[in-house]
Amino acid sequence: MAKKQFKAESKRLLDLMINSIYTHQEIFLREIISNASDAIDKLAYQALTDEKVGLSREDFAIDLRADKKLGILTVSDNGIGMDKEEMESNLGTIARSGSLQFKQGLEKTDDVDIIGQFGVGFYSAFMVADTVTVISKKYGSDEAWQWQSSGADGYTITPCEKTTVGTDVIMKLKADTDDEQYSRFLEQYQLQALVKKYSDYIRYPIRMEMEKSRVKAGTEDKETPEYETYTELTTLNSMVPLWQRNKKDVKPEEYDAFYKDKFYDYEAPLSSLHFSVEGAVDYKALLYIPAKAPYDYYTKDYKKGLQLYSSGVLIMDKCEDLVPEHFRFVRGVVDTQDLSLNISREMLQHNRQLTLIESNLEKKIKTELMRMQKDEREKYEKFFEAFGRQLKYGVVSDYGAHKELLQDLLMFWSSAQGKLITLKEYVEAMPEGQKHIYYATGENRDRLSQLPQTERLKQKGYDILYMTEDVDEFIPRTLNTYLEKEFRNISTDDLDLATEEEKKAEEETTKQWQPTLDFVKQTLGDQVKSVVISTELGSHPVCLVPEGGMSFEMVKYFRKMNPDTPIPDEKTMQLNPEHPAVQALRDHMDGDKAKAETYAKVLYAQGLILADLPIENASDYTDLVCGLMQ
Ligand code: ADP
Repeated sequence: MAKKQFKAESKRLLDLMINSIYTHQEIFLREIISNASDAIDKLAYQALTDEKVGLSREDFAIDLRADKKLGILTVSDNGIGMDKEEMESNLGTIARSGSLQFKQGLEKTDDVDIIGQFGVGFYSAFMVADTVTVISKKYGSDEAWQWQSSGADGYTITPCEKTTVGTDVIMKLKADTDDEQYSRFLEQYQLQALVKKYSDYIRYPIRMEMEKSRVKAGTEDKETPEYETYTELTTLNSMVPLWQRNKKDVKPEEYDAFYKDKFYDYEAPLSSLHFSVEGAVDYKALLYIPAKAPYDYYTKDYKKGLQLYSSGVLIMDKCEDLVPEHFRFVRGVVDTQDLSLNISREMLQHNRQLTLIESNLEKKIKTELMRMQKDEREKYEKFFEAFGRQLKYGVVSDYGAHKELLQDLLMFWSSAQGKLITLKEYVEAMPEGQKHIYYATGENRDRLSQLPQTERLKQKGYDILYMTEDVDEFIPRTLNTYLEKEFRNISTDDLDLATEEEKKAEEETTKQWQPTLDFVKQTLGDQVKSVVISTELGSHPVCLVPEGGMSFEMVKYFRKMNPDTPIPDEKTMQLNPEHPAVQALRDHMDGDKAKAETYAKVLYAQGLILADLPIENASDYTDLVCGLMQ
C-alpha cells in the first residue's frame, strides 16, 4: 500500500514531536482527550435537534484502555467521527488553529520548550507512540476508515470495520528508555493522575477499567483478611468545568492553564474574570483579557466571540453577539440554562437574552479594565499597547455612540510627564488658567516636540498630548470635550492664549506689518493662502498652519486612503514679528528687494520643514540658501 506524504509543515511539527523531551511528553493525553471531547461536543449538539442521533448527554463518554502486554494505549470516543476526506485533511496537514499558532510561535523562537505551553494537537501522540492508528466511523455513514502512521515516512488510509460511531486513537507506545521495554503511560495510576491534572474539567466522563483490590468476602473477621483483585469501570475526572466551580476553590494557575489550553495562547492572560449572574437571565461567565493581540487581530480574519454553553452543551464556539465590537479582544465562556436548547444557531442571532448578557458583560469588562488602570498600571499599559487601538476605533465608530463608555480607558502620551496618561489625569494636572486640552498629531513624538506651538505652550507650563496613531486625530473630534474642556489641536486651532490686551496689541502689530505681509504673499503667490502675524511662535520665525480645520496629518491620511479624491491643503503662513530673521526681511524690503524675496522663500521652506511637509523643490531651496551664504 503506497504511503501518502505529510505536507512539509506538518512534517516539521512531526519531527519536533518525535524528538521531544521526556518532560513534555505527558501532554499528549490531554490533546487526544480534548479532541475526543470536541468530537462529542459536535454530536451532542446535533443530538439536540436531530432525534435520529438517539443519544442524550449521559450516553457520551471517553474510554481509556491500556494493554500492558501489547504496549498499546487506546482512547475511544463516541463523538461525531471522521470520514475518509476528513481523515485526509485533518490528520495529514496542520489545519487546526492550535497547531498553526504553535508553528507561528516556533518561527519567533527556537525554544522547543514552548511545546509544553501549547495546544499542539493530534501530532503530540507521536511524542509517546511509534505507531498511531486512528479508526473512525462518522455519524450518518456506514463506512469506517483507518488512518495509520509510524511518523515522518507518511501515512495510509484504508477501509476497515467498526460497529459504533466515533473514533479510536490507538497508540503503540515507545519504551521510556532504551533499557526498558515499557512505557509509563500504561500505568493506570499514571493515567489517572494525568487526567486529573490536565483533563479534570472535561465535561464527559473519562473512564478506565481500573484494577482494585478488596477484602475477600467472608475473610473480614480473620486475623489476616484475604484480598482479591477486581476491575471496575471508573470515571477519572470530576467533570465540573472550571466556570462551574466555586471561584474561591480555583487557583490562579488553573485559570491560566485553562485559558492557554482553550484559546491556544502560550502567554498567560493579563486578567481573568469569573462571575455568576442571577436576574433577568442567569448565567456564569469566565472571561479573559489576553496579554497580546493575536497575529491576525487587526485583520478581518480574526473572529471575535465567546464560547456559549447551554446546560452543558456547547452551542457555539464563537458567539459574536456576546461581546461588543470594542471589546472583541476578550476571550472566554458563557454558560446559561436560559436558552432554549432547540434553538438553532441562526435563531440565536439577536436573541434577547444574549443582548442582555452582552450589555452586562460590557459593564463588567469596563469595570475590570478601570480597576487594572488604577491598581495595576503596568499591566494596563501592556493591555493598552496591545488593544488601545481597538478602544480608539471603538470611540470613533458608530458616530461616537460608545464614547462615554470608552473615553476613560484611553491613554495618550503626555509631553510633560513623558509617559502615557489618561484624559482625566491630564485635566487634573492642568495649571490654573489653562482652559483647553492641547494635543498635537503627527507621525512621531520628536517631530511634535519641535513644533513652534509646542514651545509656546511649554513656556506656559501647559501639557500637550502627543497623538501618533492614525486613528488618534479622530478622537478629539469625536469626543469634542472631556470634563467640559475643549480639545485644541495645537497646529490648527486657535490656542486661545492671548489676553484681551495682548489681542489688541497684536492687531496693532498687524497694522504695522501689513506692507511686509503683502510683500511676502506676493512673493510666494499661490503657495500660501494668506500671510499673518503671530505672537505665539516662541523662538521660531515662521509656522505654516492648514486652512479649514484639517491638519496636515489628516490630509496625508485621507490622501493615502482616497488617492483619487482631490483634498485641498491650503496653508496660512504665520510670521513672528519678534524674530530677527523676519525683521531683517522687513528691513531689506525697501533697499535690497531681491534679498527680501529670497528671505521670504527661505522662511516658507523652513515652515515646510517644521510642519514635516516635503520641500517642493529641494535644489531651488539649496540654491537660495547658498546664495545667501556667498
Ligand atoms: P484541533 O483539535 O485543534 O483542531 P488536532 O491536530 O488535534 O487539532 O486535530 C485535527 C482535527 O482532526 C480536529 O480538528 C478534528 O477535526 C479531527 N479530529 C481529531 N481527533 C478527532 C476525534 N477523536 N474525533 C473526530 N475528529 C477528530
